[in-house]
Amino acid sequence: AKEQGKNRYVLYDRDMDKAFSERMTIEKLLHTAMDNNEFEVYYQPQFDLQSQKITGLEALLRWKSSELGNVSPIKFIKVAEDTHLIIPLGEWVLNQACAFVKELHEKGLQGLTVSVNISTIQILQSGFTRKIIDIINSHKLNPECLELEITETILIESFTTVFRKLNKLKKMGIRIALDDFGKGYSSLNYLKQLPISTLKIDKSFIDSVSIDEEGRTITRHIITLGKSLGMTIIAEGVEFNEQLEYLKKYHCDRIQGYLFSKPLPGEDVKKLLIV
Ligand code: C2E
Ligand code: CA
Ligand code: CA
Ligand code: CA
Repeated sequence: AKEQGKNRYVLYDRDMDKAFSERMTIEKLLHTAMDNNEFEVYYQPQFDLQSQKITGLEALLRWKSSELGNVSPIKFIKVAEDTHLIIPLGEWVLNQACAFVKELHEKGLQGLTVSVNISTIQILQSGFTRKIIDIINSHKLNPECLELEITETILIESFTTVFRKLNKLKKMGIRIALDDFGKGYSSLNYLKQLPISTLKIDKSFIDSVSIDEEGRTITRHIITLGKSLGMTIIAEGVEFNEQLEYLKKYHCDRIQGYLFSKPLPGEDVKKLLIV
């Protein structure tokens, strides 16, 4: 038994080592990735169920590392946050996304929105609202076409500061989306207090639509609740027709997911949108 315990310990230690060194490598390479132009912004179309058109795009960061190949944002965003590299990187994503959607507006797609994921670190940075306003102005973008996606973790950490900043942005016309709604410790109180324009129903609920009656019931009620509060409802991670049919039936506004389209490079989105 003693031997076994020892082996287990060694195994655990090696796994820790591996995770740690992977993290260290990512951290080291992240520092030069921006200068080496290894990042690209992909865009996932959001399909409006009523107009049957693409009415929005979500900007999703991609890292093609010369040493590691494609690294998932799930892995590197956390490291970028811990090292505060997310501040320049997030600003770069915002600029890319605004320039891209502005270009599409000029090609006749006025009203198309772009949603950008924002980390807690970014929003808590002093001068964040000013920065957003400067970016919008520099691209001469209609503020109503920019949406900032935040998650509840932001709110748990610093509700008052975030509340003040979001209200200022909302007054400027910028849209705020609550991402991953239903995952974790969603507080319905946030829906009442915050200037939220869009509710994104977490993929776990959309998955459950094809699995159980409870999942269907909760999803249907989230749609009704959000809509009665005047929000736009987006279903995330829609993969099956069965889910689409259910969401249509209960008047979900937009769907986003592999069923309709994966996140795509900007050039491919242009081909999809401009005929
Ligand atoms: P998220 O904001 O919840 O983004 C949705 C994720 O679901 C994306 O993963 C997207 O590719 C994936 N997805 C979309 N439709 C489907 C589907 O039908 N099935 C499945 N299985 N997945 C689907 P991705 O691009 O790997 O991004 C992962 C997370 O990384 C994002 O989750 C977001 O939290 C973060 N992230 C990505 N880009 C940025 C960024 O520019 N800034 C910040 N702060 N975070 C980012
Ligand atoms: Ca998101
Ligand atoms: Ca999400
Ligand atoms: Ca997420």
